[in-house]
Amino acid sequence: MPLRICFIASEVTPLAKTGGLADVAGALAKYLHAAGHDIRLFMPLYGQIDRSTLEMWPVEFLQDLPLRLGSHSLRFSVHTARLPGASTMVYLIDCPKLFERATIYSNAPDEHLRFLALTHAALLSCQRMGFAPQILHCNDWHTALAPLLLKTVFAWDTLFKSTRSLLTLHNMGYQGVFSAADAADTGLETSLSRLDYYETSEGRVNPLKEGILHADHISTVSPTYAREIQTQDYGWGLDGVLRDRAADLSGILNGVDYEDWDPRHDRFLPKHYSPTQMANKAQLKQMLQQRLGLAVSDKRPLIGLISRMTLQKGFDLLFDALPALMAERDFDIAVLGSGEARYEEFFAELAHRWPHRVAFHRGYSDELSHWIEAGSDLFLMPSLYEPCGLNQMYSLRYGTIPIVRRTGGLADSVQHFDPQTREGTGIVFNDYDATGVSWALNTALDLYAQKVLWRKLVKNAMAQDFSWQRQVGEYETLYEQLLAQPRKPD
Ligand code: ADP
Repeated sequence: MPLRICFIASEVTPLAKTGGLADVAGALAKYLHAAGHDIRLFMPLYGQIDRSTLEMWPVEFLQDLPLRLGSHSLRFSVHTARLPGASTMVYLIDCPKLFERATIYSNAPDEHLRFLALTHAALLSCQRMGFAPQILHCNDWHTALAPLLLKTVFAWDTLFKSTRSLLTLHNMGYQGVFSAADAADTGLETSLSRLDYYETSEGRVNPLKEGILHADHISTVSPTYAREIQTQDYGWGLDGVLRDRAADLSGILNGVDYEDWDPRHDRFLPKHYSPTQMANKAQLKQMLQQRLGLAVSDKRPLIGLISRMTLQKGFDLLFDALPALMAERDFDIAVLGSGEARYEEFFAELAHRWPHRVAFHRGYSDELSHWIEAGSDLFLMPSLYEPCGLNQMYSLRYGTIPIVRRTGGLADSVQHFDPQTREGTGIVFNDYDATGVSWALNTALDLYAQKVLWRKLVKNAMAQDFSWQRQVGEYETLYEQLLAQPRKPD
């Protein structure tokens, strides 16, 4: 049955992306639309969005609309455009005062206001369009107040009378907490007392927590992460509320858009390959080594790494382990990423010390990320926690063996290779410590040296299917289940 879905996200691939949320939003919109659903996708019209190639049309009856949030009098307009690479449309909320900033996310004092405005604007647009969503799908803290808004300031409108809300948690580490002194910015007006009392009495508003408390259902981006966040180690202080809502909490692994990520036709690559035609992978490795100034060698394993550089990604484990291993064993590393200074400095120093063995490209580059996926033999993700993770799934497709820690989506998508049974798709380590990661790297390097086993491992990896087509079916089932259930009582 075709469904009406209002989908709100702070970033959407390929228009604005800092991480996996954008990939999920873009892919879900694209595939849900292709499956025949009426999905209305809302996101901010950021200053960063390249308008030279994007054909946008103003939505006639959604221009220069007033929006009052607390003491802020804002105005917004809505433009629509075809989401590049898809046939679905996206609604872009134009409010230059909030969205024309140097970066997609900022540490500005009005950060909460920016995304509250997005959430309100999306719901107001639904009203003006006469669009009655059956599912309101919000994502992360930015849009997590939508379920509470639906129950309060928008409750009068029968348009939303059968709407069910779903909050997808892409990362518990970001909760969007702001001062209770700004609580009126939520636009809750006379319903301000509905905000969680524990938080407001401590002087805070926690948007993510509000979403968890009020959404009809909560999903996360992998089954393991859905379990992990109910524990103190992974719950970031919200494990208690998540345990309370365990019956309404599920995990759906993200998918991969194989139109973008497949070595058979990757548009960024000068050569292509497939499980039965692997010669070009070796050539791509050589080209990558040349491009990055690494020693060109077919024999030495090359380990790729592409990441935001934050605590989450587990690089602290490498501070001692990697230099020690570099001194002991033959392998090279290609690193792409940026983030916290201590990690950037670590990789910069490593590259300085071993210029022909370590390449560090500081920054963000879609193009180089595809080259690294294709040209590397191994891919390292030693994450402290990983809600889903995408690069390990890309790596599998590219025959680039992932070395991962057993957490979140990494645990759900990579199976440790057993040389006895010859089953498995990567190298998986359990303990978050230097011994664990060193063991994993050594195991991977040993396997690389055993060509018959290695070829089998690569074959297993490349046979994996994490396509969105499959995962979208899981969201459709969840939406249907939600509609069959009564709304969560207040
Ligand atoms: P997260 O959302 O925590 O950053 P994910 O693995 O879910 O982690 O998604 C990260 C996405 O961002 C992947 O598509 C990855 O390739 C991409 N990415 C991360 N850093 C960079 C970078 N420096 N250059 C290009 N792509 C990057």
